[in-house]
Amino acid sequence: MAWFDDHARPLPWRTQTVSPWESLLAEIILQQTRIETGIPYWERIRTAYPNPAVLAADTEENLLLLWQGCGYYARARNLYKLAQELEGKPLPKTYDALLKLPGIGPYTAAAVASISHNQPVACVDGNIRRVISRFRAKHMTDSQLQKEASVLLNTTRPGDWNQALMDLGSQICTPRNPKCNQCPIEDNCMATKSEDATEWPMRRSTKQKQIQAAALVIGGEQGMRLEAREGRTLGGLWGVPYAEGKAAIQQLLNGREVKEIGQLRHDFSHKKLHVTVYSANPSVSDELREPESVPLSTLDRKILELFKVHQSEES
Ligand code: SF4
Repeated sequence: MAWFDDHARPLPWRTQTVSPWESLLAEIILQQTRIETGIPYWERIRTAYPNPAVLAADTEENLLLLWQGCGYYARARNLYKLAQELEGKPLPKTYDALLKLPGIGPYTAAAVASISHNQPVACVDGNIRRVISRFRAKHMTDSQLQKEASVLLNTTRPGDWNQALMDLGSQICTPRNPKCNQCPIEDNCMATKSEDATEWPMRRSTKQKQIQAAALVIGGEQGMRLEAREGRTLGGLWGVPYAEGKAAIQQLLNGREVKEIGQLRHDFSHKKLHVTVYSANPSVSDELREPESVPLSTLDRKILELFKVHQSEES
């Protein structure tokens, strides 16, 4: 705790007085987004939606417009559902009640309950998993880690304790080259007795599939043909006509005179996309929209950027 008191990262949701709702927004955004990228999203979203009732009164699409580029859009859709489920009531304070809300897992429930309400519940995120596994020099399952984190928890300052472990993991006990000689728990850390502290925790295998895809840009300055995306990854967003896999690509390109304009790569956590981008002139049946008027994914913004560059090279 002494180390944290001296070295806590000056994050905006720590240096200002923030509500439990704003703390929840920070936790949800930081689950899968780097801090530097997440801060402007947090500022933007908390300003637009200072409490859940304001969000519930708006549309999901407007939230997605603010969220675009932050990735993992299921988080935004769940946040919207959560705001609606609260029906104007404030966020619950306890771990158990928070856990029942859409999109709130054990980590987020524990973070909000401990940081905003001083409830003695331990968080386990990637940083804490690494610190505890090394501290005990033990490969542990998720439930063993949760138990161990609960045993170690400082119940007087649980919120600060959880944040201290997160900071220790991100600043000192880093995935590669941990700075053990600067670490406040070095004397008791079992990993330092081994040759290589990075042996813990066990690496989770995240095999990404390689996927061939095609995107078709129809339109131009007069607007673009945009379709509502479906599915868990990009549902709720809009994008240009798009297909993955040979048969679907053929179907996408059939029946129009298309021109290949370039290729790009895009990674999701579970797949690596190799996208060939085509363009075509709109037909009378194509409904064209202004891309700025709807939430687009980063992938679609890359596709439109490539199209724009191609257009300017042509003219
Ligand atoms: S002593 Fe080294 S391995 Fe152990 S917790 Fe600290 S930084 Fe990590």
